Amino acid sequence: MPAENNLESAKDKDNKEVKVRAVEGTKENTVRIRNVVKRYEMGSVIVEALRGVNMEVQRGEYISIMGPSGSGKSTLFNMIGGLDKPTDGRVYIDEVDIAQLDAYELAWLRCRKIGYIFQSFNLIPVMTALENVTLPMTFAGVPSEEGVEKAVDLLTMVGLGDRIQHKPLELSGGQQQRVAVARALANDPAIVLADEPTGNLDLNTGREIISLLKRLNEENGVTIISATHDLKMLDVSDRIFWIRDGRIDKVGARHEIELEVGALEGEEA
Ligand code: ADP
Ligand code: MG
Repeated sequence: MPAENNLESAKDKDNKEVKVRAVEGTKENTVRIRNVVKRYEMGSVIVEALRGVNMEVQRGEYISIMGPSGSGKSTLFNMIGGLDKPTDGRVYIDEVDIAQLDAYELAWLRCRKIGYIFQSFNLIPVMTALENVTLPMTFAGVPSEEGVEKAVDLLTMVGLGDRIQHKPLELSGGQQQRVAVARALANDPAIVLADEPTGNLDLNTGREIISLLKRLNEENGVTIISATHDLKMLDVSDRIFWIRDGRIDKVGARHEIELEVGALEGEEA
């Protein structure tokens, strides 16, 4: 989809005509979340993990969801990925309300439309890198020869062409996360959900994974939604949603937050 299709006219603050990306209510929203509430009831204790979240993500965007531990990032991902159901509110993927999907359609969504990357890599330890990446294609009914060929290509793309027969424990953390990235891409998802993908990696390895995700976003047009409290993520994001206590606190475009990043990094040190 060419970028100009995403543009609409608007006036800037000096009343000059400018082109901006269309945001609300366009067909380009690949994810749309309306008033999502998620309550966990544990005996007499009720945790309200999401308290009325609204957000839209356009096709091809790179979004970071920033927020401290416990703010509801993973819960929100579980809603977007159809891994769990909201207590209230709606989640639309490509304008389809996922609550309306039957079990088969939901499985299709999880398997084909969305790729997942987790902080703890979640690779299958007894399987080689190649087998880990091939597995989602097997689930999707891809013939095995074709699956293996594609897995080799994906592992080569993430820089692990010479490690395809290694098992996770024979790989470094960064290499394991690369396998997880390759696996997330196996069925050509439109959306990749990355839940703190650099959380278990050192600074440089984390940067490498982020640039890899950014490359996929730019070259393949994959929509990336990444939860993080890692400020390095801000550089590559088109927009940042700040979440606190189960609510979206603010939304910013990258160019708006540059000053703030400096301030925050000072704060963190
Ligand atoms: P984050 O990913 O931002 O660290 P989470 O979405 O994991 O935050 O958690 C948000 C809140 O919901 C936290 O208070 C957490 O303890 C609670 N929570 C998350 N998952 C569950 C669950 N399965 N059962 C009960 N409470 C949960
Ligand atoms: Mg989390």
